[in-house]
Amino acid sequence: MSDLQKPEDYDRQCPGQNYCISDAICSARRARNYPLCKDCQFHNQSVPDSKSTGDNHIVVQAGMIEKIFKAYDVRGIYPDALNEDIAWRIGHGTAQFLRSQLTGYDRSDPKVNTLAVGRDMRKSSSSLCQAFIEGVLSVGVNCIDVGMIDTSQMYFAINHLGVCGGVQTTASHNPANYNGFKITGRGGKPIGQDTGLVEIKRIAAAVPARSSLPQAKVVQTDLAEQYKQFVLSFLKLTPGKGKKTKKLKVVVDASNGMAGKYWPIIFGDLDQIETIALNFEHKGEFAHDPNPLVEANLQQCRSAVRKHHADLGICFDGDADRCVLVDEKASPVPCDLLTALLAKPFLKDNPGATVVYDLRSSWVVREQIEQAGGVPRRERVGHSFMKRALGESDGVFGGELSGHFYFRDNWYCDSAFLAVVAVLNILYEQNQHIGRLIKPLKRYHASGERNFRCEDKDARIEQLGEQFSDAKIDFLDGVTIEYPHWWFNVRKSNTEPLLRLNMETDSRELLKEKMAQVSVLLGEPVEY
Ligand SMILES: [Zn+2]
Repeated sequence: MSDLQKPEDYDRQCPGQNYCISDAICSARRARNYPLCKDCQFHNQSVPDSKSTGDNHIVVQAGMIEKIFKAYDVRGIYPDALNEDIAWRIGHGTAQFLRSQLTGYDRSDPKVNTLAVGRDMRKSSSSLCQAFIEGVLSVGVNCIDVGMIDTSQMYFAINHLGVCGGVQTTASHNPANYNGFKITGRGGKPIGQDTGLVEIKRIAAAVPARSSLPQAKVVQTDLAEQYKQFVLSFLKLTPGKGKKTKKLKVVVDASNGMAGKYWPIIFGDLDQIETIALNFEHKGEFAHDPNPLVEANLQQCRSAVRKHHADLGICFDGDADRCVLVDEKASPVPCDLLTALLAKPFLKDNPGATVVYDLRSSWVVREQIEQAGGVPRRERVGHSFMKRALGESDGVFGGELSGHFYFRDNWYCDSAFLAVVAVLNILYEQNQHIGRLIKPLKRYHASGERNFRCEDKDARIEQLGEQFSDAKIDFLDGVTIEYPHWWFNVRKSNTEPLLRLNMETDSRELLKEKMAQVSVLLGEPVEY
């Protein structure tokens, strides 16, 4: 159960202000030397969990809010860029925006006029989430506090509870001093820059601080059991014809994140799985950065697979909505090849369906989908594009190189646990190791993503189109240039002066040759 406070616990007031605040907010204000604290009776109480910034006053500036709103979510360092006051504002703005999306009877239905709010295990998540909830209540929108959850569970909560949206307090794979909010609309619809984040930002910056009294209700609920049943309803674990059942030994690295709570709940009592647990504790710090896409962060998982002769390794990110697999020989499994592998069973059950993949993926993905009678759909990088593409085409499954996997039966949303279930199903059905299943898909040679410093990104991308004008070219995301034996994509970073290159060829020699040819056109290589 969540340890958040109930509204009836709101019994403090800043001198001269006429609304009540919870002691969590009071504590956060004292930690930051809120200007009214010096005249307050609670002023001299100790502040155990909060971090002082040394500032003498807080001025919430629109500029601060501007910086933490990214393309798909809100993210910043706590408490310098994102603090409880800003969280309250974002809660207020989010509730106003999501309520404005309701039409007809839904506008007056209290069940729909409700927001689900959850949080991850970061030290600052509890107080930020609390402040966010207060902001939501101030608009007259009810809250269901679903406690400490993985981000994919929020998509389940929104649909299971039938509410107008949900917000997860998390900074995903960022270091421990970061936090943020992932905002999702009704039915699991992503809220990004073009679909509401700009409006939420505008309201958050404009609302006078703590401008209204809470007028709505907050209830706490724990959906763990229902969520477990939902995830396990996809698990088959049936051996194929003539194949024997075998217990699978799985190394699970939770990266001190949310998988540490939910792996035991969901998979802990299955006889067919023996778990070797790494980094399941929540200490507010991470043994390694909670980002499995960085090879260094897979080291612990890989050595444990070797040491225990495990069948499979799984490394989750901080909020457990992404995972990267390690095969029985301790080699990482590229996420695009995993998409290619999983497409087949999905297409067997859903003949002729669409499978969506991000445009950096290997040629193998398209080939496997076509071979299995499906419709391949290449899509821009980014979860909102992937979800939209899957929804539009009513596609059955989708995968991104970042380790996000999307499912029609998960409201077109991504879920790392459902990806794991699909992998377990295929391993059981084939009675084969993951490395053996992936091996035939390693038909091409990929560069991996390489970054180049470039100030004039658009001009450079346009030039590439002219320089390789005899190729098959498209501008779906940056530029993709395709020849019979090789292809590459160059797209720009949204936030930095960087171009990102991905290349694939049908021979190792050609990869070396073409990388040398294209790299010089892009600018100075950067090592991240
Ligand atoms: Zn994540």
